[in-house]
Amino acid sequence: MKIAVIGAGIIGITTAYELAVDGHEVTVFERRGAAAEETSFANAGVVAPGYVTPWAAPGMPGKVISHLLSRHAPVKLGLPLSAGDLAWMWKWFRACKLETYLANRARMQRLAFYSRERLHQITETLQLDYDRSPGYMVLLRSEKDSRLVQPGLQVLRDAGVAFREINADETRKIEPALNPDTPFMGAVHLPNDEVANCRQFALLLKNEAQRLGVKFEFNTTVAQVERAQTASILIAGETAPRHFDALVMCAGLASARLLRPLGLKIPMAAVYGYSISAPIREPLNAPRSALMDERYKVAISRLGNRVRVAGSAEIGGSLAAKRASSIQTLYKVLHDWFPGAAQLASTGASVQEWKGARPMLPDGPPIIGASGIAGLWLNLGHGSSGWALSCGSARALADAMQGRAADIDMDGLDVSRLAR
Ligand SMILES: Cc1cc2nc3c(=O)[nH]c(=O)nc-3n(C[C@H](O)[C@H](O)[C@H](O)COP(=O)(O)OP(=O)(O)OC[C@H]3O[C@@H](n4cnc5c(N)ncnc54)[C@H](O)[C@@H]3O)c2cc1C
Repeated sequence: MKIAVIGAGIIGITTAYELAVDGHEVTVFERRGAAAEETSFANAGVVAPGYVTPWAAPGMPGKVISHLLSRHAPVKLGLPLSAGDLAWMWKWFRACKLETYLANRARMQRLAFYSRERLHQITETLQLDYDRSPGYMVLLRSEKDSRLVQPGLQVLRDAGVAFREINADETRKIEPALNPDTPFMGAVHLPNDEVANCRQFALLLKNEAQRLGVKFEFNTTVAQVERAQTASILIAGETAPRHFDALVMCAGLASARLLRPLGLKIPMAAVYGYSISAPIREPLNAPRSALMDERYKVAISRLGNRVRVAGSAEIGGSLAAKRASSIQTLYKVLHDWFPGAAQLASTGASVQEWKGARPMLPDGPPIIGASGIAGLWLNLGHGSSGWALSCGSARALADAMQGRAADIDMDGLDVSRLAR
């Protein structure tokens, strides 16, 4: 088939690759000048399938409200909130019911474990060399943090995930550079999880896709998906639509706007987050892999010769307006745990401060599969876990387009979920 993929973030790139593996003739349209320039640009890089869960969970509304006024809160409301943001928040609130949460968590984790397997297969088969480190730790500052993670640990047990609850001394053996002056309770160590550079992987896989014949048209914006003609798109600045046998929508946050004129209402909101990436000053003082500060919900990741600190969940506002206090929280958490790890801007180093928009559906899982409109397929709404879910989502979508059953149960991961 002749297929157009819209968007070259991690989801579009993995999708294009899998479709090319299946022998399709693929063209990717991307409005930016390169792959992974938007949300896939500087995420935390964590691939921890047991921790891939919906943000719509029982007890979350109360937690969000209690956080709103505190300085280093992991969740913030940006103003102005649009009518769309408010409608999304209402849907999110309704999806926090235990039964809905459990169903969505099972869907996301199924996909996440499958995705990690596919990520490893691709990496090994193609011998891709990108920054990655094995192991993931959730740092627990206090007894209270330890108590609060217990339900999550039960989830890991139920899913058969290998992990250990360890005390502070054991934690320091795994991450010897942890600040000796910061007291803490211990950690949850997940040896089989990892951190890896999403953007680097996307750039490498783009080259592999090109080798398989995928064409990339960068600096090319899809202005609209044609309503009257099947699988046709109009490129900004062109007058005649381009025709394909199928289209795959992988435009991240922009997907909802492109789909609305077709009558497809996808309840997607931008949940903004931030990261800082700084060169490592002294490797002995730097983290070896990825850690999550459970209290502040901030991840500290080792990515080659850089350290990346990422976190915050902000609803409302805009991508352009960076909130200084959210970035300060990242510096604070880095300083709490690894004070000598990074060269900071004050020393003249070039530190990247980034804000990204998670393309988030209110109930959690992404939407993968047929759209209900002839010739139009969807792979979107991966929220806070798009890197961890990308390779599995892409393979499952390619299977669906071939009329093949996916390797995992895809129930609830397609567009029909929105109508339930
Ligand atoms: C702070 C932060 C930390 C995160 N940490 C993690 C993590 O540790 N692990 C994890 O798994 N996930 C993480 N995520 C989430 C992850 O980054 C996203 O889920 C993922 O990048 C989404 O990928 P995407 O391809 O759907 O979107 P994008 O990367 O945004 O790609 C969409 C692409 O479509 C293009 N596009 C849009 N409209 C058009 C158009 N009209 N025409 C042509 N092109 C178009 C855009 O330019 C863009 O390149 C994090 C996110 C943030 C913000």
